[in-house]
Amino acid sequence: MASETFSKTDVPLKAVFVIIGGGIAGVSCAEQLFVEEPDASIILISSSPLVKAARNVHKISERLEEFSVTEESYSALEKQNPFCRVIEASAIEIDDGKHEVYLCNGQIVQYAKLCICSGAIPNVIAKENSFILGIRDTETVQEFQKKLSNSKKVLIVGNGGIATELVYGIENCEVVWVIKDKSIGATFFDAGAAQFFLPCLNEAKHEESVPCKRLNYELEGTSQQKSTIGSALGPDWSVNVNMKGKIQKERSIIVEYECEVKDIYSKAESNNKRLEKSCSEKVEESWPVYVELTNGSVHGCDFVISATGVIPNTSIFNNNKFLLAEDKGILIDDQMKTNFKDIFAAGDVCSASWPLAKHWFQMRLWTQARQMGAFAAKCMSCDLRGETALLDICFDLFTHITRFFGYKVVLLGLYNGQKLGKDYEIIVRSSERTEYVKIILQEGKMQGAVLIGETDLEETFENLILNQLDISVYGEDILNPDIDIEDYFD
Ligand SMILES: Cc1cc2nc3c(=O)[nH]c(=O)nc-3n(C[C@H](O)[C@H](O)[C@H](O)COP(=O)(O)OP(=O)(O)OC[C@H]3O[C@@H](n4cnc5c(N)ncnc54)[C@H](O)[C@@H]3O)c2cc1C
Repeated sequence: MASETFSKTDVPLKAVFVIIGGGIAGVSCAEQLFVEEPDASIILISSSPLVKAARNVHKISERLEEFSVTEESYSALEKQNPFCRVIEASAIEIDDGKHEVYLCNGQIVQYAKLCICSGAIPNVIAKENSFILGIRDTETVQEFQKKLSNSKKVLIVGNGGIATELVYGIENCEVVWVIKDKSIGATFFDAGAAQFFLPCLNEAKHEESVPCKRLNYELEGTSQQKSTIGSALGPDWSVNVNMKGKIQKERSIIVEYECEVKDIYSKAESNNKRLEKSCSEKVEESWPVYVELTNGSVHGCDFVISATGVIPNTSIFNNNKFLLAEDKGILIDDQMKTNFKDIFAAGDVCSASWPLAKHWFQMRLWTQARQMGAFAAKCMSCDLRGETALLDICFDLFTHITRFFGYKVVLLGLYNGQKLGKDYEIIVRSSERTEYVKIILQEGKMQGAVLIGETDLEETFENLILNQLDISVYGEDILNPDIDIEDYFD
């Protein structure tokens, strides 16, 4: 491979591999390219001054990995490889014919192979409303902390991982949690697991009794420069974030089930609409903002946090006519290729559209961003040589490891019966405040599992889902704690 070096006077800039985005997908793509193509020139274009990297990778099983996300200055990437250069600027357009990327600072970057890793943006309800905050990157977390420190009551909308972490993390402030489902945390849990977590909601957090969070969120320095859009945060974004409001009071969380936000009013508007009468608060309590829900209740609060999912960040590529999936992600095939020659995509921005393995599906998670970024690097390298990459084993089985309410949570395969219709059985083992284990079986074969607590079952269950062994003879004993199932199956 011909190597290229850079000089600031090069116009336009040129590299064999160009990556847009310095989040976990972009950085793992670059780092994998260092391995695949050690002598090739690489340019990473990042609109934020810090880049995200996966560090301290710890393998739990063949497909489950824990790691910490660090925010590093981009010089760390350049130090790893003399042929890598990071440009801090936003890409504003791609000319797929000329193989050129145009940057906001006027620079032009030519590529042989391009990988788009521009992430996603929060799908905030009522974007123009200054009382609503969507949490995505370091800057929005700082804004959130500032607002929270002056708040007595906040309203959180959404039922995914971010909302669940926030509800657990916020102290010294009342919380109203608005969810459209029948149970909390529905993105990750069924009603049984939600029931397991419910007692955690209103109880005071005792720092010493809460197990340490799995990962660290480390920040290298801070930047004075305001980025247009930063990388999404990593799983443990909340660990070192002070989430304290301004009242000294026991935790108070009200969950509003099966409803959505109908309207949002400022103090002045609420007077006009006489909303305070139907407000759950005493009339004398006056709030900066009032939220009317579809179930008819109204809550006054200091501000609203919208944790209602993300939309792939593709708007800058509107002129390019990328084929998009229903969820607005750029469609990619099993070589991570988009519909344009030599353009690949990875992470939150893309939507996997190859025939998926039975036990894998895409979720816009940090683990998948890392896996896709690394695999995209392999695909680009193969493509350069006219070869086809073998789909990585990480796409055989959905795996996710995280922590909620201080408990370790492992999700494997079709953990909520996804793709199975109604034709499956569930076996559960639950021990209050210790563990919750759920397995999904179809025709006697394991299809998925939820493991909450220190169950030590992840490796065995990963194997059982992958090898599709008929375990019907064991019946419910498969979860009998007195039987060491590892002895049977390892
Ligand atoms: C609050 C929060 C909590 C989360 N918690 C978890 C969790 O517990 N577990 C989990 O697995 N996942 C979690 N996620 C999701 C996870 O963070 C994302 O799935 C992951 O970061 C996606 O990585 P990415 O590299 O695709 O995108 P991003 O991390 O969003 O990175 C995109 C990068 O592209 C850059 N960029 C965008 N547009 C341009 C442009 N035009 N030009 C140049 N650069 C550009 C951005 O600056 C950024 O650096 C969470 C997300 C949030 C917001």
